[in-house]
Amino acid sequence: MSKTYKIAMLKGDGIGPEVTDAAITVLQAVQDTSDLKLKFLYGEAGFHCIAEQGTNLSDETIALLKRTDACLKGPMTTPEEPGAPVSAAVKIRKMFNLYANVRPCRTYPNVPALKPDIDLVVVRENTEGLYSGVEYEVAPGVGVALRIITKEASTRIADFAFKLAEKRRKHLTYVHKGNILRITDGIFKDAVKAASKKHPDVTIDELHIDAATMQLIKKPETFDVIVTTNLFGDILSDEAAQVTGSLGLAAGANIGETYGMFEPVHGSAPKYTGQNKVNPIATILAAQMMLDYLGEKDAAAKIESAVLKVLSEGKVRTADLGGSSTTSEMSGAIAAQVRSL
Ligand code: NAD
Repeated sequence: MSKTYKIAMLKGDGIGPEVTDAAITVLQAVQDTSDLKLKFLYGEAGFHCIAEQGTNLSDETIALLKRTDACLKGPMTTPEEPGAPVSAAVKIRKMFNLYANVRPCRTYPNVPALKPDIDLVVVRENTEGLYSGVEYEVAPGVGVALRIITKEASTRIADFAFKLAEKRRKHLTYVHKGNILRITDGIFKDAVKAASKKHPDVTIDELHIDAATMQLIKKPETFDVIVTTNLFGDILSDEAAQVTGSLGLAAGANIGETYGMFEPVHGSAPKYTGQNKVNPIATILAAQMMLDYLGEKDAAAKIESAVLKVLSEGKVRTADLGGSSTTSEMSGAIAAQVRSL
């Protein structure tokens, strides 16, 4: 008998409920047409919880996450005032030690991109760097943020990226700012170089972050796997998403030793809330990455094929892709395609 996976479903804020519902529609189609069995456990997290619960991630939601095999998370609004709760996504990443943030970016049929044939993955260290959340105002008007970089976390993310590159085109680019951040990025660079000895079949090269942002626009098709520290990875992956078409297509995985959280790369886009207008594909592809992580390769492949078919037909297109289809029309078309595969 096939296993039933327990999935924590956090719908989030803004457009979060719309795009997670869209992913649920597609996951339902996969379950109806295969042996896959998912049990969704719905939890509350995000900005909308703060007023009522005083936190964006309650103990109840944390307990729910701990009872599940993986989490599908919608985008959440993050307050920016000093002293406000830290982003729920950052808390979950740290709490479950989801050290690898994996963001694939590729060209899709009928989606205008800067270049054809882009197929790259940004692997971002997810637990430290400038996202350590350690900031002080040391004197009025003088702020300090700690950029914590360790050999342990750098080695772990380098190993992850090399293993991924081994399964792909065997090319790894490591991105840093070692000419300025000599100590912190020196540790990161040394860790990548040491890890490369364990993976001799992977070709490596390096770029400073400023050059990398430029090369990603000039020659995006030359990248395979990019590995970098937390903030640089956040910026590069949004840029890569736009280079390949739309933030509405970019999905991300947060993977640790024992748990995975999957989410769209985009945020809660508050101005589009409730309009049934945004592109749900990023969240649908996040669900695909989740099934892949759970070892359900056939089910994951079904979602990918269905997305590619709908995009290549070009009949259903949301506004970001130049059309006027709704969020639910897009998820309905992908679900119908899953059922016909
Ligand atoms: P955003 O990604 O929400 O929106 C930026 C723009 O991208 C939108 O105005 C829209 O034009 C476009 N866009 C985003 N998602 C789209 C989709 N699915 N389809 C079509 N177009 C889409 O970024 P923002 O405005 O900087 O952030 C809004 C809020 O989201 C902030 O509070 C931010 O902190 C939060 N955020 C959360 C996450 C997360 O939960 N992982 C990630 C990024 C931002």
